[in-house]
Amino acid sequence: MQAPNFETYIFGNGTIDACYLNTTLSYPCGKGSVPPVGVEARSIADIQAAVRFAAEHNLRLVIKNTGHDYLGRSTARGAFLLWTHKMKNISYTDNFLPEGAPPEMVPYKALTLGAGVQWHEAYAAAELHGRYILGGVSGDGSIGAAGGWLMGGGHSALSARHGLGVDNVLEFTIVTAKGDYVTANAYKNIDLFWALRGGGGGTYGVVVSATHRTHEIIPLIGTFFVGTLRSPEVAQKVMTEYIKIHPAFSDAGWGGYAFISQTQLTFFYVAPNISWAEANDTIDPFFGLARQIIPNAESDLQTYIAPYDSFYDWYRQVIFGGEQVGGNLEMGSRLIPREIMENSPEKVAEAMLAIEGGLTMCFVAGGAVSKVDPNSTGLNPAWRDAVGHVVFSDAWTEGQSASYINMIRQNLRQKIDIMDKVAPSSAAYFNEVSGTHS
Ligand SMILES: Cc1cc2nc3c(=O)[nH]c(=O)nc-3n(C[C@H](O)[C@H](O)[C@H](O)COP(=O)(O)OP(=O)(O)OC[C@H]3O[C@@H](n4cnc5c(N)ncnc54)[C@H](O)[C@@H]3O)c2cc1C
Repeated sequence: MQAPNFETYIFGNGTIDACYLNTTLSYPCGKGSVPPVGVEARSIADIQAAVRFAAEHNLRLVIKNTGHDYLGRSTARGAFLLWTHKMKNISYTDNFLPEGAPPEMVPYKALTLGAGVQWHEAYAAAELHGRYILGGVSGDGSIGAAGGWLMGGGHSALSARHGLGVDNVLEFTIVTAKGDYVTANAYKNIDLFWALRGGGGGTYGVVVSATHRTHEIIPLIGTFFVGTLRSPEVAQKVMTEYIKIHPAFSDAGWGGYAFISQTQLTFFYVAPNISWAEANDTIDPFFGLARQIIPNAESDLQTYIAPYDSFYDWYRQVIFGGEQVGGNLEMGSRLIPREIMENSPEKVAEAMLAIEGGLTMCFVAGGAVSKVDPNSTGLNPAWRDAVGHVVFSDAWTEGQSASYINMIRQNLRQKIDIMDKVAPSSAAYFNEVSGTHS
């Protein structure tokens, strides 16, 4: 697991069964929550056999793709593991018609990805065919493109332009809990297709492949902002303006990521297919206000705008290349509705600045995400009203006691409550959420 805390098991009495990476800790190496036995699936038949075997022997089945899950859903103590990582088939066609679609339908240019394909492989494959595929962002592109990311929602820096993963998937092939291999799309097994788009990984069966629509490659403009906030007053003013401008940013198609703390605001956003002048029109008002508010803007504020040939070009230059390493952590999050950003920017800013240790604002909604009928997929409808998704986490070192970990969880709980109060009718992103939140 990327977050190895999910490999450890805490008993009710506080005893921990684990096998720590740090061998200098003098604990015995136990199985913890790592399944003792499993199947490395290479084919549909392997998956069917594993699902039937688990049913026959009454085993708890867990599906693991990359093991990047932030809720620990891809492992469980004493479970039977089904590992999909080796299912790496990728195929592209200019003429994809979902099974059962009317023949007169205009075909899609689509990429079909096996269950084990990761984003770095999917992006490269799409580019090889002169296309772009909407996907997730991580330092080494290692999240799965057909597993938990997709079934939980799947956000991207270009979601304001192209929607979420669930809005771009055209078809799944899946082995159901009975071991049947079926196709789910807008024409066949419609209810399953609805549920798979948002219901979360590991809920409705084992996905064998997912077919994603692809898009034309378009140039982007990227912007960077790094502001040092030397007093709480400056931080509150800058953050209020930052929140206020987001509906306009969203309407202009911007998306990306921001790191917000009590002393610094950093963001890197992109907007597809807009001119230099249009980019400046939306960005400059905020840059100008920040320059006025930050006292020593010459030294405490850096802004930058740059063109990119494509999303993949931006991704390679700005995101990709970092090593992705794991750590013991749990996270909390909240979707921030547009209406709250418009009506109460001060309160949103205040809440964000109250989160000890800072947070990440994933500016990955609004635009195309909000245009989709909230009832058309199994995704939490709060996504359709949101502009941003804020995430915060707490980490700890290996070998900590159960009471220490509980204290960390209580801290996290308090942070979640802060965001709950500012957006009480909203929700959290299923894939990046706290398992401790009741
Ligand atoms: C570094 C990093 C960056 C991230 N960036 C983004 C991002 O940009 N956008 C975003 O939306 N999310 C992002 N996430 C969150 C990500 O969407 C979740 O961690 C997601 O659960 C990962 O799915 P996976 O299949 O790779 O992982 P896994 O841990 O293997 O699986 C996650 C869940 O899906 C299930 N599952 C996996 N494969 C299948 C299958 N074939 N059939 C049925 N169930 C399956 C598992 O049982 C588990 O419940 C990021 C996570 C990390 C760690």
